[in-house]
Amino acid sequence: MPLRVRRDADKTGDDGNNATVRERIMSAVYRVTDKKCATCRWWNGERGIEFRANQPYYVKVGNPNSTCSARGNGAASAATVCPRWTRWEKL
Ligand code: SF4
Repeated sequence: MPLRVRRDADKTGDDGNNATVRERIMSAVYRVTDKKCATCRWWNGERGIEFRANQPYYVKVGNPNSTCSARGNGAASAATVCPRWTRWEKL
């Protein structure tokens, strides 16, 4: 589980009474010590580093669904991991 998740909700439907709500995860935050696709060097998604006491502490990803270079640019999710995980060189 990510440490923090930002969600975005859309209301759709014919009228207010029959509306359905769709939620999309817009960003998520992981500790740099987590072994996740979000902290892996092969993750191709948008991400950034947040610092504490001048040290990398969190990795914040935008869209948690992206691709993986180590798996032929196949689909990858920020919260998963595989045996090819390699620490992101920027951490
Ligand atoms: S699928 Fe494996 S190699 Fe690819 S980004 Fe995720 S942990 Fe890294």
